[in-house]
Amino acid sequence: MRSPPGISLLSLVTQLFGVGPERAAQLARLKILTIGDLLLHRPHRYEDRRNARPIRELMLKQPTLVRGKVVAMGLKRFRKGTRSVFELILDDGTARLHCRWWNLPFMESYFAQGDEVVVYGKIKSLKPRTMDHPETEVIETGEELSIHMDRVVPIYPLTEGLPQRWLRSLIWRTLPKFANALAETGFSEPLEGLPSRVEALQALHFPTEIEDAEIGRQRLALDEFLALQLQMQMRRRNLQQNAKALPCSGNNSLIKPFLKQLGFELTDAQKRVLRELRADMGGPHPMRRLVQGDVGCGKTVVAACSALMAIESGFAVAVMAPTEILAEQHYRTFKGWFDPLGIPVEMQTGSRKTRDFQGAKGSQPPLPPLVIGTHALIEVGFGVDNLGLVVIDEQHKFGVAQREKLVRKGRYPHLLVMTATPIPRTLGLTLYGDLDSSVIDELPRNRQKIRTYTRSAETLPKVYQFIRSRLKEGRQAYVVYPRVDETDDGSVKAVMAEFEKLQAVLAPYQVAFLHGRLRSDDKERATERFRKNQVQVLLATSIIEVGVDVPNATVMLIDNAEQFGLAQLHQIRGRVGRGMHESYCILIADPQTPASRQRLRVLEQTTDGFAIAEADLKLRGPGELLGQEQSGLPSFRFADLAGDAALIERARELARQILDKK
Ligand code: ADP
Ligand code: MG
Repeated sequence: MRSPPGISLLSLVTQLFGVGPERAAQLARLKILTIGDLLLHRPHRYEDRRNARPIRELMLKQPTLVRGKVVAMGLKRFRKGTRSVFELILDDGTARLHCRWWNLPFMESYFAQGDEVVVYGKIKSLKPRTMDHPETEVIETGEELSIHMDRVVPIYPLTEGLPQRWLRSLIWRTLPKFANALAETGFSEPLEGLPSRVEALQALHFPTEIEDAEIGRQRLALDEFLALQLQMQMRRRNLQQNAKALPCSGNNSLIKPFLKQLGFELTDAQKRVLRELRADMGGPHPMRRLVQGDVGCGKTVVAACSALMAIESGFAVAVMAPTEILAEQHYRTFKGWFDPLGIPVEMQTGSRKTRDFQGAKGSQPPLPPLVIGTHALIEVGFGVDNLGLVVIDEQHKFGVAQREKLVRKGRYPHLLVMTATPIPRTLGLTLYGDLDSSVIDELPRNRQKIRTYTRSAETLPKVYQFIRSRLKEGRQAYVVYPRVDETDDGSVKAVMAEFEKLQAVLAPYQVAFLHGRLRSDDKERATERFRKNQVQVLLATSIIEVGVDVPNATVMLIDNAEQFGLAQLHQIRGRVGRGMHESYCILIADPQTPASRQRLRVLEQTTDGFAIAEADLKLRGPGELLGQEQSGLPSFRFADLAGDAALIERARELARQILDKK
């Protein structure tokens, strides 16, 4: 069938017969604006209505489909009419089923004696057979029967006032007219093992068997991945064709003395990644490389070495951090490393700007600077002359768009992106498919294992006692609260209240607090005092997730740990275990929620960041793993990042083939 003249997938749904302004408003609440949106509205489940179960055979608790006739119904009100229950009794010839709806008196108007009704729900009790709040549909006779009965039927997400049957009929009528047009918006060649797009759309909405719907979904998911891969690979090819790389591989004149004064030897993994970086920075195309490495593996020093290569070659370097605290930490670290080498290190954040003239030592021409900043810099004017390398630390806190913006600041500088959130491969290919990737898969040898324990809040007195014993030995501790939300005034008070309590419990040891709403210099002062061991305990929000590096701190106490994702907890935990002392992480979780305790066990059992991220992706989804707003993920309708690994690989290969042919 063809689409009607003058109407396209981009036309508003009101162009369809039977869709007035009221229905259009309801559809809009489901983000269905155009005909294309309508036809990509994904059912959240399917019902096989060829197989209704006889009421007499119903079993407790299993969700079941039943079909019967309304033999009685009634509304009871009680508590002076403020409460009600509506009851519907169905008979299918084998037995009767009572369906009840509490406090939804208007349900009464949906049914009439003698109606045929399909019901889907769980049996709550068998005497009498009862379902509470089942999903229902009244079956009308006539031609509609072939859409809603005796077949596998899609059940769509709805919004208030929008009937399932009406929406299903609309899609049923509209799909044949636009399926071809919709198919053309995706990849058109046949794909082994997968249906065509037309078939996939048919199977998505009206599958012959329930399993067909999943195969249809996979096809549509593949198309989503493919579109993204094409975009990323195209960007990459454009760069390679149009941009000439700045020669930045250096001559060792700075790296040699740097490594000598460093005080430790690089791990084999660090050395290997540095070789990869050097090859990139001396290559024909601007580097686009992601370095992944678990928290504490030593990415900063790798960044420093690559910065030295650029500076040796006469180019400036910009280092971007997601928070001011991390930027300050980097500023201190890089100054410590680079001052002796005569390299100017500058800081540009929203609240602070430094200029470093001491780099111009003696009579030699000054070396190009290293400039450190936060992403605030991307928004305001940020100019570094002669920029050869951009380093983005903790990339998962930046969006893809921000990354793009930054690189456009210079004339195709090299780009080094670092992340400590170990990204499962599937997600990596989706987010960073345009980057080459290196992994630092080894921790420095002197690292201590972090012992992790999950405890309930009742044990806190004991936990404090334990912390005191560590403090007595000269160590330091972190206490982290999730509830202190940086955007919420009330909860900042919570950290203050907690601060006084904690200070009392741990006296005479000193406690300082740190949260996102502090002024920059107060943040700086708190971290500084903790770093110098003038205070022994730092009470903080998850703001310390990145950047604080105090090897003497050996205890991490995280309260309300169930509120965090596993990957984030792993990051926070990574603030300890950085020195030569044995370290501990204590997760306080609500015993009322055994499921969340179970989840936290993953952290007790492993310190492998990749395994933890994989678990987090499965349990909470990519948005949570990466941090909602800035994850930079496109919104997929059909793709499932946690489960579609094979499809992502396939899309990547397909995109390569398609672009090769061009
Ligand atoms: P991350 O990868 O989490 O950013 P950092 O770069 O902050 O880790 O490094 C953590 C700590 O380990 C720092 O104090 C750093 O100086 C130290 N470090 C880095 N590489 C080594 C190494 N090869 N041997 C010993 N210590 C190292
Ligand atoms: Mg780091």
